[in-house]
Amino acid sequence: DVLVDARDAARTYGRGPTTVVAVHGATLQVRAGDRTAVVGPSGSGKSTLLHLLAGLERPSGGQVSWPALPTPPAQPAPTRQIGVVFQGPSLIPALDVVENTALPLVLAGMPEGRAHQRAHASLHDLGIAGLARRLPEELSGGQAQRVAIARVLTQAPRLVLADEPTGQLDRATADHVVDVLLSAVDMLGAALVLSTHDPAVAQRLAVRREMHEGRLLAPHGTRGPQS
Ligand code: ADP
Ligand code: ADP
Repeated sequence: DVLVDARDAARTYGRGPTTVVAVHGATLQVRAGDRTAVVGPSGSGKSTLLHLLAGLERPSGGQVSWPALPTPPAQPAPTRQIGVVFQGPSLIPALDVVENTALPLVLAGMPEGRAHQRAHASLHDLGIAGLARRLPEELSGGQAQRVAIARVLTQAPRLVLADEPTGQLDRATADHVVDVLLSAVDMLGAALVLSTHDPAVAQRLAVRREMHEGRLLAPHGTRGPQS
C-alpha cells in the first residue's frame, strides 16, 4: 500500500538568474506504518518536499501520486486523507481548542455536536482534555502543537506530514511533542513523514532520509552513525 509515491519530484522557484532549485529529483515511497524523518539544515528543501508530498505544491518536474488514497474528482490531492502539522502557529485564534480540533470534521460537513464529541475524544486520548475551552493565545508553544496533533487525530488521515513540528520548542517540550505525535500516528495506524533540522528528533524515527542542498539522499534505515 503506497500512500505517497514521489518519483524524481523536483521543485524550482523563480526563473532565469534568480532560479532556486528547492528540491532536485526526489524519489520516496511511503507505506502504511512507515515512520520517516527528513533531516537537514534550514534551507535544504525539507519544507518544499513535504508540501509536494501533501499536494500543497505541484512538482515542476517528475511526479507525486497517492496510489492508495482516494482522490476526489477535480482535486489535485487527497487532502482529507493527509494530515499536516506545521512548525508555527496554525490554530484559528478566534476558535477555542475544541472548535479548532473539530474544524476538519465541521469543514467536511459533520454536524457540530458530533464533531465536537470526536474532538473531545482526541483531546482526551492525547491527555489534553483540560485545554478544551482555552483560546490559542492562552496556550504555550508545546500545548499548541499538541492541539494541532489532536486536530490531525480527529481528521483521521492515513498519512501524516509534520513540517518541523518541534522547530520552535525547547528540548524537553520537543521530546514530549514527538511522543504525542508518534502515539497519535500509532492510534491512527497512519504513516508519518516528519521534517527536522534536529538529529535528536530524527533519531526517534525508524527511517532517516537526509536532505542536503535540495537533494534527498539514500535511506539510512536503522543503520545510524551510532550503531
Ligand atoms: P527547509 O524546509 O529545509 O528550510 P525550504 O524547502 O523551506 O527548506 O527551502 C528550500 C529553498 O527553497 C531555500 O533556498 C528557500 O529559500 C527556497 N524557497 C522555499 N520556498 C520558496 C518560495 N516560495 N519562493 C522562492 N524560494 C523559495
Ligand atoms: P518554513 O518551513 O520555511 O519555516 P512555514 O512552515 O512557516 O515555513 O511555511 C512554509 C509554507 O507553508 C509557507 O509558504 C506557507 O504558505 C505554507 N503554509 C503554512 N501554513 C499553511 C496551511 N495551513 N495551509 C497551507 N499552506 C500553509
